[in-house]
Amino acid sequence: MSLKSPAFAGTQSTPFDITDRKIAYFSMEIALSKTLPTYSGGLGMLAGDTLRSAADTGLSMVAISLVHRRGYFEQHLDHSGQQTESEVRWSPETTLPSAGQTVTLTMQGREITLCAWRFDVVGVSGHIVPVFLLDSDLEGNDPWDRRLTDHLYGGDTYYRLCQEAILGLGGIHLLRALGCVPEVCHMNEGHAALLSIGLLEARVAPAPLSNATEADAEAVKQQCIFTTHTPVPAGHDKFGLDQMMQVLGADRSAAIERFGALHNDLLNMTYIALRFSRYVNGVSMLHGKVSQQMFPEYPVHSITNGVHAATWISQPFQDLLDKEIPAWRCDNQYFRSVYGIEPEVIEATHQISKHRLLHTVQQRTGVLLDPKVLTLGFARRVATYKRASLVLQSPQRLIEIAERIGGLQILMAGKSHPADNAGKGLIRDIFAVASQLTNSPLSIVYLENYDWELGEQLTNGVDVWLNTPLRPYEASGTSGMKAALNGVPSLSVLDGWWVEGCAENITGWAIENCEDEAIEAERVYDKLENCVAPAFADKPRWARLRRHCIAINGAFFNTHRMLGQYVANAYFPPSVAKAVSNQAIVDDQTEQTILA
Ligand SMILES: *Cc1c(COP(=O)(O)O)cnc(C)c1O
Repeated sequence: MSLKSPAFAGTQSTPFDITDRKIAYFSMEIALSKTLPTYSGGLGMLAGDTLRSAADTGLSMVAISLVHRRGYFEQHLDHSGQQTESEVRWSPETTLPSAGQTVTLTMQGREITLCAWRFDVVGVSGHIVPVFLLDSDLEGNDPWDRRLTDHLYGGDTYYRLCQEAILGLGGIHLLRALGCVPEVCHMNEGHAALLSIGLLEARVAPAPLSNATEADAEAVKQQCIFTTHTPVPAGHDKFGLDQMMQVLGADRSAAIERFGALHNDLLNMTYIALRFSRYVNGVSMLHGKVSQQMFPEYPVHSITNGVHAATWISQPFQDLLDKEIPAWRCDNQYFRSVYGIEPEVIEATHQISKHRLLHTVQQRTGVLLDPKVLTLGFARRVATYKRASLVLQSPQRLIEIAERIGGLQILMAGKSHPADNAGKGLIRDIFAVASQLTNSPLSIVYLENYDWELGEQLTNGVDVWLNTPLRPYEASGTSGMKAALNGVPSLSVLDGWWVEGCAENITGWAIENCEDEAIEAERVYDKLENCVAPAFADKPRWARLRRHCIAINGAFFNTHRMLGQYVANAYFPPSVAKAVSNQAIVDDQTEQTILA
């Protein structure tokens, strides 16, 4: 499909002065707008939310990503839940202003020229964080190279390594060409790790990399920050030394080896990032500790993720907040002040979103759901560790519960990576269960093409957000935070952010993890029937619970707070009081490993 009427077409191509920008944020994916396919899931959403908060809070930031002309795919599901994919093409030429600058670098033993498109993230008071989307589709480039910035997470490992070289090396060279020498470069996930080699090159230029000294490497390290995002091994890109030589060439490969950045004779992006960063963090307290165990030779800190409140709060709630506590847009700590709003008003506001969601479900699927019935939401990338089907382990048990509590509706959504056949099978399994449920007190609806729009409607409108990952693989999770900001409690395994967000019976309910999945599923059913449903039935209590979610979790799990922590701990820490790492904590736990 092609994109319909981008909202920002015709933006003027005036050059943007970034010479004084202090922080450069690098991410392989960034969710910039609902109509641009430049993200796949949580990582890209987090990057976008980070930049939106940076713009709101006036941070001196600039960002780098790739243009992804054929983006991440659109998902289609047939009647049995079989997924097929189609490209989402867009044309930056007719959508965004050009950066007015090209850079040429050598990779794969030949030259490649990159241009860039500028997307302006505009903050609440007009401050702009410009994002430069690198593009290799230029005449004069090798025909194969012109496709390198097309597909997000597409192609084979060779294609991926080329993309990461473009992001890291091309990004640094573009910033230099635009006159920007950032004090801090932030690698959002290991994909961006090669920016360290770009910095090293720029530092010794015009001399070759072989001239770089240990002092140069140390200077680069003092400039870099690295955020790791997953303990799942497949999430840490590794490449063979032959590919490293082919793509990066002898000089860069020699430098990587000489500065001790290889790992187990592989080019491992996480280890390059670790080697060249002065500050490393995981994305929740638990994930920081787990990462510390994975990388004991490097201190790993924790900064828990957040979401951009104004992006994820429903319009009816935004209107209410603008009336009652208008300062929330600049300062999210004001969410605590929702305690000054009557719970019934909060409940009534949520009802508007619930009706809107159920209307969307009916339009998209023809299924008519009941706004009075307890409605759970579960939507995420279909990765096996997220365990979309845990709640469906015993459909009979769920039906019995639904009968006793006056009905139950479950809305699900999620894309499987095109190459993930196990994930695709999981979607078919859910369809198989759902199709058995005619004239049942239980309804399960799987919605096609989980994306920003659907994520917004689901987190705005359901009653309870369900989350059942395999602990400790959910590094943070952010969709439950979006729900909390809309007064929606979570029923979740104690993993990622929920370890910090769960106040039992106040902001939601915890599911204790267990080796045995059947027992874990039983715990979900038990909580649902004996805790969630009785609370839902008690309307005044439920309204207060919604308010707690916003006041307690909304006030903390937002990107305004998160960025403040990055500024204080990572970007510009006071030189005397260095932040405490997780190393001390893990040293105390040598016997007891968190990552089994
Ligand atoms: C928020 C969001 C995610 C990430 O949610 P998790 O809870 O971290 O899995 C992924 N995709 C979309 C479309 C989202 O809106």
